[in-house]
Amino acid sequence: MKYLDEFRRPEQIAALLQEIRRITRRPLRFMEVCGTHTMAIARWGLKRLLPEEIELVSGPGCPVCVTANPDIDRAIALADIPEAIIATFGDLMRVPGSLSSLNGQRARGRDIRVVYSPLDALSLAEEFPKNKVIFIAVGFETTAPTLAATIKEAYVRGLANFFALSLHKTVPPALATLLDLGEIKLDGFILPGHVSAVIGSKPYEFIPKDHGLGCVITGFEPADILQAILLLVSQANALAPRVEIQYRRGVNPAGNRIAREIMAEVFAPAPGLWRGLGMIPESGLELRDRWASFDGGRTFPVELPQAKESPGCRCGEVLRGLISPRECPLYGRLCTPEEPHGPCMVSTEGSCAAAWKEEI
Ligand code: SF4
Repeated sequence: MKYLDEFRRPEQIAALLQEIRRITRRPLRFMEVCGTHTMAIARWGLKRLLPEEIELVSGPGCPVCVTANPDIDRAIALADIPEAIIATFGDLMRVPGSLSSLNGQRARGRDIRVVYSPLDALSLAEEFPKNKVIFIAVGFETTAPTLAATIKEAYVRGLANFFALSLHKTVPPALATLLDLGEIKLDGFILPGHVSAVIGSKPYEFIPKDHGLGCVITGFEPADILQAILLLVSQANALAPRVEIQYRRGVNPAGNRIAREIMAEVFAPAPGLWRGLGMIPESGLELRDRWASFDGGRTFPVELPQAKESPGCRCGEVLRGLISPRECPLYGRLCTPEEPHGPCMVSTEGSCAAAWKEEI
């Protein structure tokens, strides 16, 4: 298949690995920010193929994993509203909140449904006009334009029973916070291809400029990721950090203007609460006042329980790259994909789920 097979050719992968080995002169630690990269690295066994000097750590790029417990609790509480139908993505269903999960509430009789896109939730609102359909929206810049378009479509169709709880977040402020915390020493970032297809390369320029770290916007096939690592090693060797685009077939430096415009029309930057990173200014996306009637958070104030984490779960440290999943004492014992204790094991893009995949 075009754009896939050509980035999976064994001889190309072998050549890239040989070149990485040839030019690597010292231990280097790169963070892959995106959960899809984390899964691709696990799926293709890339960590085992790389020279031992190259360490890959995962960052805060799985949208389900970074959704903090107070926000999970809010989604759960919205299910108690009379006539509510909660619509959300499957991964979010099993994430433990402070007292329960969406799955747990569904077992108790709440109407909570898995959808594959916000447009599915819009269809539910049309199908059930007497209900209040509340879409729980998690994601980054990749999916925010689709939610924005769906809210505009709800307005066009005159749907007064469609709402969104926007828990969307933006990636660059989280990277700035991670770097400002100064807890982890990195030598560069493998940056997300899909997010960057929307925002372009400019929002990352503070990373080489202020922190002296290389960045490569990267595709999702094994040869993409290895090319990105090769570029990062070259940048580190040359002491010339910059933002490079490896994923040229998906990203141009200016990003996608139309997607950014519809995001800006519907959303305003707002403080965003991140698991592991706390409240980060301007890292969330809230509905602008013009669209307030579609805002599930503003329309339905709910009482929240005292937020608490799953006992022993170290997802916050995993998301900051401070520990590997296997360093969590619960990993593989009390926390498995069948019985997850934290979101990083629940999500198909979570670091702990990816580590588990590497073992089977
Ligand atoms: Fe959280 Fe489970 Fe990962 Fe531990 S292994 S950090 S409990 S998800």
